[in-house]
Amino acid sequence: MAGEPDSLIIGAGSAGATLAARLSEDPGHAVALIEAGPPYAPSRADELSNLAFALTERDWGFGARTHGERIVPYPLGKAAGGGSAVNGGLAIRGMPDDYDEWERLGAAGWAWKDLLPAFRRLESDPLGEEHLHGRDGPLPIERWSPDAYIPLQQQFLAACRAHGIAETADHNAPTSTGVGPFPMNRRGNLRVSTAIGLLAPALDRSNLEVHSDARVTRLLLDGRRARGALVERAGETFEVTAKRVVVCAGAINGPALLMRSGIGPRAALAKHGIACAIDLPGVGAHLMEHPGALLAFVPKQGVCDPERQPQYQLGLRFTAPGSDIPNDMLIGVMNHIDLRGMPDLHAAAGADIGIALTCGVHHPLSRGNVTLTSADPDDPPQIDLRLLDHPEDTRRLLAGLRLAHTLSQTAPLDGSLARLAAPAAAVFDDDRALEGYARSVLTPWFHATGTCRMGSPDDPAAVVDPGCAVRGAEALYVVDGSILPQIPRAPTNLTIIAVAERAAELLRAS
Ligand SMILES: Cc1cc2nc3c(=O)[nH]c(=O)nc-3n(C[C@H](O)[C@H](O)[C@H](O)COP(=O)(O)OP(=O)(O)OC[C@H]3O[C@@H](n4cnc5c(N)ncnc54)[C@H](O)[C@@H]3O)c2cc1C
Repeated sequence: MAGEPDSLIIGAGSAGATLAARLSEDPGHAVALIEAGPPYAPSRADELSNLAFALTERDWGFGARTHGERIVPYPLGKAAGGGSAVNGGLAIRGMPDDYDEWERLGAAGWAWKDLLPAFRRLESDPLGEEHLHGRDGPLPIERWSPDAYIPLQQQFLAACRAHGIAETADHNAPTSTGVGPFPMNRRGNLRVSTAIGLLAPALDRSNLEVHSDARVTRLLLDGRRARGALVERAGETFEVTAKRVVVCAGAINGPALLMRSGIGPRAALAKHGIACAIDLPGVGAHLMEHPGALLAFVPKQGVCDPERQPQYQLGLRFTAPGSDIPNDMLIGVMNHIDLRGMPDLHAAAGADIGIALTCGVHHPLSRGNVTLTSADPDDPPQIDLRLLDHPEDTRRLLAGLRLAHTLSQTAPLDGSLARLAAPAAAVFDDDRALEGYARSVLTPWFHATGTCRMGSPDDPAAVVDPGCAVRGAEALYVVDGSILPQIPRAPTNLTIIAVAERAAELLRAS
């Protein structure tokens, strides 16, 4: 590539790989893309059945505080494709009102009507009506057909039917609710990450230059103007400059990078001896996550076959009792779960492999934050999720666990489950005991969002404006999960890819 790139994109994850691919479609627009992890190379980690393998091969190795002093591993993809290269492959859109809420919160131009074209352009989904689904996008969307459901999933479906729960063939239809097959970005067992679906086809473009295994340690600023990034690769440090810089490092590493570069809450930066270039209190604040908990079961002989069975097939989206937020909850059945990483559950089950009914709150009201532990880029940021801080999140999670328990006791699902390993059945009769259990197994679903949230240009808590430009800076943008004003009622990957798709339109025009 001759001369200075037009756009320097930091992070080749769900958003960054998408943005790089889309911006470089214009041969007159030169793009440099920097990724801390390795470039894409086919690997067993791309197989959806190898989620654990993907996580060991492509991870930042961070931990996060769920609540109190409890710290759990917090996987984050470190490779081309980022989170989309390690995740569970669930490709679910939020509810239309999630995006309309973004607009109400000040993100003008980001309502459902603005996002739907992006969702359609990205997907290749044979299902549903033409005006709702794209047929020839770079991400194949597959669902299990009913004749491919394993017996356990058929029994889960039957249990839902027995309780009068609605059924849906398409969780991505705007008004869908109830139980149905998860849409997934996959081709068979292959997880089609943004590295595979979007970046790989763009790699031979002469206007796209990719630096892999290269970590940005700091942004380069001239006053308030971004001019590039300081990059470290294999023990060497070098500068990459560009006409504009777009941070796509994700909702954890992104705010950490901004803060190390002097962009963030002045007092927090001062604590680490970092001179404040742009005082933005919203950087690292407003962290949103989906909290989840599970019921663990010992299966009857022959029910679990991890070698041959997919981990997930059906999901149940429903509204918590007493809630006026539709589909604020999700229940799924994990056909097999390796209990060896969870000592308490392992001991309670007395078996290595169990079955789990997982339950999560898809519209959490609790908010956490990301802060620096030092100015040194080698020190991981502190991730405080504060899950269940808001009593309404706790109330809904307990209601969801009770519904999961009821379903597990319903024929014919109960026939596959030898026994409930955890919690003890008695806790369902006692709110405090059930909450105690939920907190003991509480897990984030690795859907961090909102730590550089988008808002109207005069919102002091917003970090970027509706054009994704960092408030108070010049030539500096953020495009990734951190800019979401509100977490969608769905796993986050597809929404974040759609955000990058929409941002590409806006950046092309700017
Ligand atoms: C284990 C797991 C399972 C999940 N399951 C699902 C699922 O089934 N469905 C779903 O919808 N969502 C799922 N998610 C969430 C989803 O994958 C993420 O929300 C999404 O990938 C985040 O996209 P992003 O672009 O914001 O960040 P990322 O995809 O994380 O991209 C950030 C990229 O920036 C790079 N980077 C960071 N800092 C630097 C730096 N300083 N210099 C250079 N590069 C840097 C990172 O290495 C990474 O590649 C899961 C996530 C995980 C971790």
